[in-house]
Amino acid sequence: MAQGTRERDFALQVATRLREAGYQALWAGGCVRDQLLGLIPQDYDVATSARPEQVRDLFGHRRTLAIGAAFGVIVVLGRQSQQIEVATFRSDGAYLDGRHPTGVTYTTAEADAQRRDFTINGLFFDPAEETVIDYVGGQQDLKQGLIRAIGEPSARFSEDKLRMLRAVRFATTFDFQIDPPTLAAVQSMAAEVHVVSAERIGGELRRLLVHPARKRGLELLLESGLLAQLLPELAALWQQQPACWQQTLQHLDQLNSDSLAVALATLIADSRQLALVSEIGRSYRFTNKEIERASWLVLKLPDIEQSETIPWPKLQRVLVHEGVGDLMDLADAVLGNAHRGVCHARRRLALSPEELDPAPLLTGQDLIAHGVRPGPGFAQILEIVRDQQLLGTLGNRQEALLLVDQWLERNRGGS
Ligand code: ATP
Ligand code: MG
Repeated sequence: MAQGTRERDFALQVATRLREAGYQALWAGGCVRDQLLGLIPQDYDVATSARPEQVRDLFGHRRTLAIGAAFGVIVVLGRQSQQIEVATFRSDGAYLDGRHPTGVTYTTAEADAQRRDFTINGLFFDPAEETVIDYVGGQQDLKQGLIRAIGEPSARFSEDKLRMLRAVRFATTFDFQIDPPTLAAVQSMAAEVHVVSAERIGGELRRLLVHPARKRGLELLLESGLLAQLLPELAALWQQQPACWQQTLQHLDQLNSDSLAVALATLIADSRQLALVSEIGRSYRFTNKEIERASWLVLKLPDIEQSETIPWPKLQRVLVHEGVGDLMDLADAVLGNAHRGVCHARRRLALSPEELDPAPLLTGQDLIAHGVRPGPGFAQILEIVRDQQLLGTLGNRQEALLLVDQWLERNRGGS
């Protein structure tokens, strides 16, 4: 059974069981929105009148996890490793820190809708009746393609400042407009986004950058004032060099890859600020692997650009690197797939495996057997032999060993 169907069936079972026990149980939030947009929901959330203890009693302690019990959230586990969050209808208490409520109060479905961020995220669906329950005008905004805060926008953003970035992310990924009063509130409060943890900001930025509509995401970050807060060095540079900004936007638009590393490299490649890759990557808690890959991509892009003129051994080492697929994606976006260097690199990549990456004539073992002691210079000899092999000046092991002897002789003489 398809993953989505299994999740949906489980969400239906959980709601039915709650309902049969006499509680109100509705699907809530993102899954209702996605369903109305004709998308397959990533996960289903159930909102209920049952209290957390009642949810646990009903499904049993072995089949539930009380991870978010303080906020009224119980995770119910399915037999095929499905997981559904069942949340008691709640109102959030005061937000004193711009991030979390101080506590929650259990309440009605209508009040639960009011605590949610945007109208399109404030919908419920009754799976038994198959009806949408809309206390916030979310259906209308879904039809019109609008991201609109529920209630007074600046009050809602003061409670949780991450919502500002969520507004940009939802507008980007759904190709919606941000309702003008909601956008105006983000513009006036953008500088306050820093109270939010780096992980949460990073999570939103990641989703924005890997999405095909990332060009618009960047434009919305600029328009909302968040760009200068979240990527200050780049924002300043782009302000001074509007041509670079336009170029980067175009390249982000042309990028065809869902890798964060490639997106990050594309964001920075035109400004040639290699150091910013790790600075941005670290600030937003991207993984070391992603940061290393993005740095390597920015560093190696010139090798593709100049692939016709750089020595083959240098290009060959780039083309046999495990990141070469990402590098060609970056090159297609930044240089264009008709660029001479890109075409040349592609022709080389199409060589047979033996031509592209022939088995080495000599290995470290061979050198040891030949009487060379491991130490300084050892790796260098292997590199020199490999270069000459790739250039075609060495045909076999004998010739390679001769070159080693000459090198050793010269080095001995020199020391
Ligand atoms: P997606 O899963 O695609 O990011 P989503 O809307 O499902 O979108 P979640 O973070 O899974 O987002 O949250 C589920 C629901 O919880 C949202 O639809 C919304 O109703 C509510 N919600 C989530 N985050 C916030 C927030 N920061 N402020 C207010 N309500 C929120
Ligand atoms: Mg969700």
